[in-house]
Amino acid sequence: MQEYDVIIAGGGPAGSTAATLLCQYGYKVLMLERGQHPRFHIGESMMPHIEPIMNRLGIDWGRGNLRKSGADFIHEKTGRSLYFPLLGQYQTFQIERSVFDHKLFKHALAQGVEGHQNEKVTAVAFAEEAVHVTSNASSYKGRYFIDATGRSVLMGRKFSGVKRIKNLGQFALYQHYQLEDSADVDELYAMGNVKILLVDIGWLWIIPLTGKRLSVGLVVQNPAKTEITSDELFELYVNSSPLLTQFLKESTVLSPIQAEADFSYINNRRYGERYACCGDAAGFLDPIFSSGFFFALKTAEMIADRLHQGFVNGQEADPELHSVDDSIYKTGFNTMHLLIDRFYRSNLVENLIYEFERHDRIKKELTALLAGDLWSEGNLFQQGLLKGRRSAIFLDEKR
Ligand SMILES: Cc1cc2nc3c(=O)[nH]c(=O)nc-3n(C[C@H](O)[C@H](O)[C@H](O)COP(=O)(O)OP(=O)(O)OC[C@H]3O[C@@H](n4cnc5c(N)ncnc54)[C@H](O)[C@@H]3O)c2cc1C
Repeated sequence: MQEYDVIIAGGGPAGSTAATLLCQYGYKVLMLERGQHPRFHIGESMMPHIEPIMNRLGIDWGRGNLRKSGADFIHEKTGRSLYFPLLGQYQTFQIERSVFDHKLFKHALAQGVEGHQNEKVTAVAFAEEAVHVTSNASSYKGRYFIDATGRSVLMGRKFSGVKRIKNLGQFALYQHYQLEDSADVDELYAMGNVKILLVDIGWLWIIPLTGKRLSVGLVVQNPAKTEITSDELFELYVNSSPLLTQFLKESTVLSPIQAEADFSYINNRRYGERYACCGDAAGFLDPIFSSGFFFALKTAEMIADRLHQGFVNGQEADPELHSVDDSIYKTGFNTMHLLIDRFYRSNLVENLIYEFERHDRIKKELTALLAGDLWSEGNLFQQGLLKGRRSAIFLDEKR
């Protein structure tokens, strides 16, 4: 049986990040990916605070990606709109995930990670001194196991720890287009911003990608009781938007309409003896503020750093190895959840974002949070959010 220091299930952004960092520390790492890169993945709009992690990985993330400076929140019915700048000390981008996730995976391999594709992890068993990982192709022995299986939530399901988060977006429908040149399209690509269109049943994203491709998605939080199919629903909302009609005038559809549902959950068994979960395998929130990819990289980074410390101190089997980092994660996850909750339930955009000119401090503090700066001291807006803790995820959590 082949032996490794760390075995990682999942070769998405979280898996590739954890693998690269652990390899940089000098460990023997195996990463098993059930799919084959390049593979399609939704989730294209990035937060600026991803950048320091990219720097650590050694990835030039600006190459081939479209620069984004912020978000436009647009309410076409009322005619209100606001540009929300996101840039501070870091830059950010809109990325084509199939290309970028492949780049991260190849980069991990180039650093020395052993990576297998088309190999699905089917079982994980813990013994006193080791972890035994079984895939559809082979069996492996490791000193530690990292679950980066995304929404498959391998360990969460194994230990029945997955808990749905209610009242956020219920499902998303999306499609990709190839646009033709026009003055409006040129302006969209010159700015590179994500546009959020607010509609009665939820919201739409408009994400420009390099090569004049466009990602459009409808997130439904409050489905209308109609008999129409999801494809018809998507087309109804796309066709009712003057802005989208303008952009898509001469476009070609690149993919069928795709759907994702039940994407808001937390895994209450995020770590334990000889294992930890990162990225979507730890939890995921509604995509409104584009926090998924950031959390994927951040949790992978925290796990890699702590595990290194654990190995150095001979404490890698300590079931509480990640408890301090997990409290940090909870603060960030709770903050994002509370913001998203307010987006849906208290009309955050109308009541706060559109009124920004009157609230300069809040504007700065909210901008920092939406850029991914979730752990700085002195953010009074964040402190207020967390203090109220109305509907915070981790209030009644039992691990
Ligand atoms: C509708 C929607 C829109 C989104 N939009 C955004 C956005 O704009 N910005 C943003 O930041 N985030 C967005 N996200 C979230 C973002 O895509 C995810 O948070 C991110 O992909 C998480 O990375 P990950 O590595 O944890 O998981 P993934 O990217 O899903 O990678 C997990 C990998 O594990 C593999 N795998 C699964 N099971 C196994 C197994 N048993 N064995 C081996 N391999 C396995 C999978 O094939 C996959 O490649 C969105 C999500 C949704 C649902």
